[in-house]
Amino acid sequence: MRARGIEMASKDCVKVAVRVRPFNKRERDAGSRCVISMTSNNISIQDPHNQQNSRTFTFDYAYWSHSGFTRNKDGLFVPQETGGRYADQASVFQDLGQSILDNALQGYNATLLAYGQTGSGKSYSMVGYGPNKGLIPTLCEKLFQFIRSTQDSRQCQVFFSMLEIYNEQVIDLLSKASRSVCGLRVREDQQRGFYVEGLRRVPCDSAVQVEQLMEQGTRTRTTAATHMNANSSRSHMLIIVQLKQIFSKECITKQSNINLVDLAGSERQRSSGSEADRLKEGTAINLSLTTLGNVISALADMALGKKVVHIPYRDSVLTKLLQSALGGNSRTVMIATLSPADMCYEESLSTLRYAERAKRIQNKAVVNESPTERLVKELKAENAKLLLRLSRLGQEGHKADDESKELRRLLTHNELQIRAIQTLWEQHLQEALKDWETQYATMTQERRMMQMHPYIMNINEDAQLSGVVKLFIQEGDWDIGLADNSPRALSVRGLGIQEKHAVFSNQQRRISITPVLGSKVIVNGMPVSKRTELQHLDRLILGSNSTYLFIGFPSERSVDDWSRYDYDYFQSELAAAEGIHIQSLCDNQGPNQSDPSLLAVFYDYVKLMPMVTEANQMSKELKKGVEFKLEIKNLAMSDSKGHDLEKEIAVRVTSMERKQVWMWSKAKFVNRKFLMEEVYQQQVVGGEGADRAPLPMDRDPFWDPLEPLHLGSAHLWLQSLAFRIPLEEQVEVVGPEGTEEAILQAQLVPCNPTGLPLGEDDILIDPSELLGKRLDFQLVLDQCCGLRWIKEARNRGVQVGFQVFDCPQSLYTPSVWHNVNPLLDHRVQFTALRTSQELLNYLQSNALVLELWGLQEGCSELVPCMDGVKTKQEDSIIIDKIGTSEHSATETVGSDLSASLRALHQDLEQLRNTNAALSKENSALKEQLNSARIGEHCLISHMQ
Ligand code: ADP
Ligand code: MG
Repeated sequence: MRARGIEMASKDCVKVAVRVRPFNKRERDAGSRCVISMTSNNISIQDPHNQQNSRTFTFDYAYWSHSGFTRNKDGLFVPQETGGRYADQASVFQDLGQSILDNALQGYNATLLAYGQTGSGKSYSMVGYGPNKGLIPTLCEKLFQFIRSTQDSRQCQVFFSMLEIYNEQVIDLLSKASRSVCGLRVREDQQRGFYVEGLRRVPCDSAVQVEQLMEQGTRTRTTAATHMNANSSRSHMLIIVQLKQIFSKECITKQSNINLVDLAGSERQRSSGSEADRLKEGTAINLSLTTLGNVISALADMALGKKVVHIPYRDSVLTKLLQSALGGNSRTVMIATLSPADMCYEESLSTLRYAERAKRIQNKAVVNESPTERLVKELKAENAKLLLRLSRLGQEGHKADDESKELRRLLTHNELQIRAIQTLWEQHLQEALKDWETQYATMTQERRMMQMHPYIMNINEDAQLSGVVKLFIQEGDWDIGLADNSPRALSVRGLGIQEKHAVFSNQQRRISITPVLGSKVIVNGMPVSKRTELQHLDRLILGSNSTYLFIGFPSERSVDDWSRYDYDYFQSELAAAEGIHIQSLCDNQGPNQSDPSLLAVFYDYVKLMPMVTEANQMSKELKKGVEFKLEIKNLAMSDSKGHDLEKEIAVRVTSMERKQVWMWSKAKFVNRKFLMEEVYQQQVVGGEGADRAPLPMDRDPFWDPLEPLHLGSAHLWLQSLAFRIPLEEQVEVVGPEGTEEAILQAQLVPCNPTGLPLGEDDILIDPSELLGKRLDFQLVLDQCCGLRWIKEARNRGVQVGFQVFDCPQSLYTPSVWHNVNPLLDHRVQFTALRTSQELLNYLQSNALVLELWGLQEGCSELVPCMDGVKTKQEDSIIIDKIGTSEHSATETVGSDLSASLRALHQDLEQLRNTNAALSKENSALKEQLNSARIGEHCLISHMQ
């Protein structure tokens, strides 16, 4: 259909709305603070780490759905008092939905996108939960209301499609046929632009029918997610409503496409971008979302008048399908959803920035209209002519029998064609309705079963998909597992689920589960191996991570709120059973003092736990021989002030056979797991077989080149250097989880420029005397004892690394191998030519962090890069350049060596003089000190 005159085109900016949801249970439990505030269309976000740091944005609409609401008797969330600020579903529809509908009815294409991190309320806004219907169902309802009530002569046809983009594959959610591995194809057409080939378009004439279709689509999503072991937060859901309006009097047809898009969670995109990985999964994980970001940025730049050469629409499936919605022929609205909690600050800020860019995009929407059904008109005209000729022939007698026959044939043919066009729509509609009736019957049947029998229902990470699958446990014994070939089998699929996994038994109104030997069944967080009776609302995990809630007999059910048993609940329960509580992480902080970053670590842990279980299962089935384990890294390890606040999640990967170890960051693991799923799907689900076609090493997500591993750190406090007192210590090297990795014997030796240790006489009472003077000291690493790393496997080695003050690079000892107690015998001298206040402060309050690095066979060693580290006489390493450069910027240049030497001599002279003066004072003080100690001693013994 051609768009009417381009002169009608006007520039429409993408309209942007933001919405902030209430706290969820876990945020409430954690005592979260709300970092979002709103006044009219302005929204401010406050940095929880820095109260002064707040940013304000302005959008077309800002919806406060965080507080001030109540649940009415129909279960609707509404403002507590009339006129309250709470934005309910109806008021969001009033602005956004209505304008989409109005635009569509005028013949414009219209698009509504929901963007935000997982769990921020995209689906709540778009689809809704229970009675709180979202924009899509309400829009359809209003559309059909309009169609029924309109008085003019227009005829409307509505087609409904629903699809999902996962890992660049298009899945038709309304058709069983397209659920093949590779999905549907996206094609390009001169007139239509990009479209999905063979996508099912269901003719619709009521809102109830649409709701039913959405339910059907969600069911397909849920089974796809469990079968393919896919994560729905990584997929985009698109609903396309095509509206065709035929104005028969005016002989005009208007057609518009309404795209309703619930985008994938925005969070992983960046976390993966932050880290380079040879497998480049950052883009693979959600090419569509990344490309959408790039398209939006390019269009926003263009709107600002910047020169933009290329807009990468073609780089992903999603952006192809949304081309007209972004910078094209569409009126587009974006709703950006936010979590209010302090621990989501970074994500929320990034969502706001994204939305800010989107609002600059300009579209050129035009009304899509064309003369109506030219074909019908032409056929009618032709018929009239034929009839005329026929009547003339009749008058001329019977001579032209043949011609008349031919004419009659043509006439009937034309008549039929006209009728066909008119009835086609009705026919389609009838078929769709019939289809719908069978669907409806299945659903009514399911509702009846729910009223009669106990059942288990799926609980998904994505609340939209929870409760979609229900398996009824009728009287008798029921096998549960992959197998579905017997009438007494309940089929469940998922990672780690066996052919026959467990047996449900319903005897004398008691329900129990008995795991089959070797299969994994967890009830309320605890693994079970024997027959276990189930109570109403028990939590069940089958295999790696298939989560179900048990619903008992109707008589046992009360008005429970089942929604509290969400996915988080299952995982927290499991973590608690493993001894991981939020309290144990916050121990050092006192009660009710929840640091948002610490909470974030806890939830990361809980979130990664099932993913690690799944990765282990995939590794097992694919015979990869690697094992994954979650660790909470204490970042205090690497902090030279020894603060014990920051913690981070990491995944330890061990190849069992060769005892090789890798540490992956959370982002890397999440991305790698995505790639593992892909491999798993090809080889196991896709039937290639785990043994066939092993992946080349460089494409295998389970494998990485070996790198030195940070085993732990020890702290050597520097304070004694400020007094020029030597220090000899045995320090404990502590691993990320608090384990003792080794004991390190180390010394700090104040010395003269040639490396001779200073004597007692050189000890300072007041460290500030060092200011502006030269300071030399040596770090001596004597020996490493009791290396756990080597005890575990003898074919390993270690190196010790350290970084002093402003020295730009870390330095490392040479490697030592195969020895649990290796001698290091490593000595380095450091020199500050003119000690600055900064260095002095550093010495007095910081420790030298000695990092223990583990080496494995075949991995490269750590080499100190000496570029930029000045070495001078006696190979001393110059530190404290701040102090040095302030006074003599030229000192670094070789030709000025003599000048610096002279300065050094002067320093030395000065030093000697002061020393002499001080040593007198020193001995006096020492005496005083001694007498004080004796006094103290007396006091203590007196108290005892
Ligand atoms: P997303 O689709 O962005 O991953 P959901 O829409 O599924 O997130 O929302 C996650 C949870 O938060 C759901 O349980 C949902 O009911 C709740 N929620 C989201 N937005 C709101 C809101 N505006 N009011 C009440 N609850 C909400
Ligand atoms: Mg969602």
